[in-house]
Amino acid sequence: IKQLNKVFRSRGGLFKPAREVRALEDVSLTLARGETVGIVGESGSGKSTLGRCVVRLEHPDSGELLLDGVNLSQLKGDALRRERHRVQMIFQDPYASLNPRTKVGMAIAQGPIANGTSKATALKQAGELLDMVGLGASAVERFPHEFSGGQRQRIGIARALALNPELIVADEAVSALDVSIQAQVLELLEELKQRLSLSLLFITHDLRVAAHICDRIVVMQHGRIVEQGSAEQIFLAPREAYTQDLLKAIP
Ligand code: ATP
Ligand code: MG
Repeated sequence: IKQLNKVFRSRGGLFKPAREVRALEDVSLTLARGETVGIVGESGSGKSTLGRCVVRLEHPDSGELLLDGVNLSQLKGDALRRERHRVQMIFQDPYASLNPRTKVGMAIAQGPIANGTSKATALKQAGELLDMVGLGASAVERFPHEFSGGQRQRIGIARALALNPELIVADEAVSALDVSIQAQVLELLEELKQRLSLSLLFITHDLRVAAHICDRIVVMQHGRIVEQGSAEQIFLAPREAYTQDLLKAIP
C-alpha cells in the first residue's frame, strides 16, 4: 500500500456547508504473506476507508496497491476481474450483504460462478467451506436468517474464502459479537490463516482484540498513520500520546 490519499467532498446545500474530509493522507503500509496487521484508531480516523480502498470498493485519489508486484490500482475491466479475487473483505455485519432470499450455499458459490466455475462445483465447494468454518455442509440449503450473528460471520468468512484470496481485509469483523463468540470467530480466523497462509488486515476499534490476533499494529488518526509497531510495543510502550489515550480508554 503506497501513499494512498482519499478526500471526501460533499457539496453544500441550503442549510449545510460544503465539507471536505481528508480520509486518507499518504498512507503506506506493507504486509508480508501470512502476517496479520491490525489497524486501530478512533471513529472517523480512516480505517474503513483504507480497507475499502484495498479491496477496491473505494477508489483512492492517488496511491498504489501492489500485490506481489501486480499494480491492482492500475487494473481495469477483465484484468481487474481476474485479479480482484486475491483480496477479499469480511464486513461487520455480513447479514447486510447476504440476500435474505438466497440460500447460503448459493451466496457463497456466486463469486466463483461469476469467475467461471461450474455451478455444481461451486456449490460443492461451498459445502466444504461451510464445513471448514464449523457450520456443516448442510448449511448450503438454509437461508441467512436461520443463523445467529456469530454463525453469519462464519458464512461471511466462507464466502471470502470461496474466491481463494491471499489477503483478507476484516472490518470490525467481530465487533458486533459478544465476547465468547468473538473469541471463537477470532480462533477460526487464526486457524484458517495458518492453514491457507493468508495475510490479514484486521480493522478494529478494539485494541484488546487487535493485541490478541495481530503481529503488528498500525495506529491511525485523522487519516494518517501516527504510530506502528509490534502488538507488544504498541500495548506496553506506546510512543504517541494519541495511542496512550486509546489504551486508557480500554475499561
Ligand atoms: P469507525 O471506527 O467509526 O468505523 P473509521 O476509522 O472506519 O471509523 P472511516 O469510515 O474510514 O472511519 O471515515 C473516515 C472519514 O471519512 C470520516 O470523517 C467519515 O465521515 C468520512 N467518510 C467516509 N466515507 C465517506 C463517504 N462515502 N462520503 C463522505 N465522507 C465519508
Ligand atoms: Mg469503520
